[in-house]
Amino acid sequence: MKTAPSKAPTTEGNRLDLLAIAAHPDDVELTCGGALIKMVEAGYKVGVLDLTVGESGTRGSVAVRWKESARASKVMGIAHRENLGLPDAGVEHQRDYKLKLAQRIRALQPRSVILPYWEGRHPDHYMAGQIGYEACFLAGLAKLPLAGAPHRPHKIVYASLYVPTVLPTFVVDITDQFEKKLKAVLCYASQFSPRQDWRNLFPSRADCRERLAAQGRFFGDMIGVRYGEPFVTREIAAVDDLVNMAVRSI
Ligand SMILES: [Zn+2]
Repeated sequence: MKTAPSKAPTTEGNRLDLLAIAAHPDDVELTCGGALIKMVEAGYKVGVLDLTVGESGTRGSVAVRWKESARASKVMGIAHRENLGLPDAGVEHQRDYKLKLAQRIRALQPRSVILPYWEGRHPDHYMAGQIGYEACFLAGLAKLPLAGAPHRPHKIVYASLYVPTVLPTFVVDITDQFEKKLKAVLCYASQFSPRQDWRNLFPSRADCRERLAAQGRFFGDMIGVRYGEPFVTREIAAVDDLVNMAVRSI
């Protein structure tokens, strides 16, 4: 396991309200950064666990991406961020990876977890969703060879923004958090092209704003707000109050 060059804050024995797990540094910012900022603003203790440092990425060295990730975490105001050190472009169904992640879930004790949607273009992204789910389950099994008390998150939701053809179960209004989300994403300077080229997988900084705004507007429109981020749940929502449901008005 790789260790961070800068000392990561620890929350051992100090449980998180919400933990976002994703494959590469910047995935969380892009797919659910606005929602994380919103939860921080609501007073929740929010953490991020990146599975890889993105060392196989076309742009940016490991050291540079660490620094960018630390800066983005500060912008979002999250309480804890760590990296599991799995191989980039090698997030696979391996039992030792799942146990390693389950161990950290036990240590951080998140009440809710955000995972990447379980299908998509990049194998690391959908694999992170799949092994993330299994690690959450394993973390709750008492007899596994893991340290710490068994812990299973109360709720898992999937960030589906990378797969915009998937109909979300719900959308989080991030209108008030959009500028901060953009600022956090732009911390990853190594991932942006100096060239103005909208066809490039790595957009320029100017293109980044347009792209994030277009995505945000698309999902925001679904609930009648300016900017939104989409999420999917596997389980059906249980409703007690049909009069005050948090759904878009007709
Ligand atoms: Zn990624």
